[in-house]
Amino acid sequence: MSMNISCPFCGDRPLEEFAYGEVYDIPESITDPDERNLDRAFFYNNTAGVQREAWFHSYGCRRWIYIQRDTITDRIVKHE
Ligand SMILES: [Zn+2]
Repeated sequence: MSMNISCPFCGDRPLEEFAYGEVYDIPESITDPDERNLDRAFFYNNTAGVQREAWFHSYGCRRWIYIQRDTITDRIVKHE
């Protein structure tokens, strides 16, 4: 069974149309812009539970949407 993502611009669309990644807050103590970008690109919390994610509708409207998804059940908890 395929999972659908609700795009606010295109409606319910299959998961395969999107690329996604985890979004998390980088500690304010890291002030070097290069180090902050390194954290964004290569380090993840890999949360077992609800995490904030950015989804890019690459085969649709080509816009970003933000959701909170439970990584254990794949249930979308909240659209932002
Ligand atoms: Zn879309």
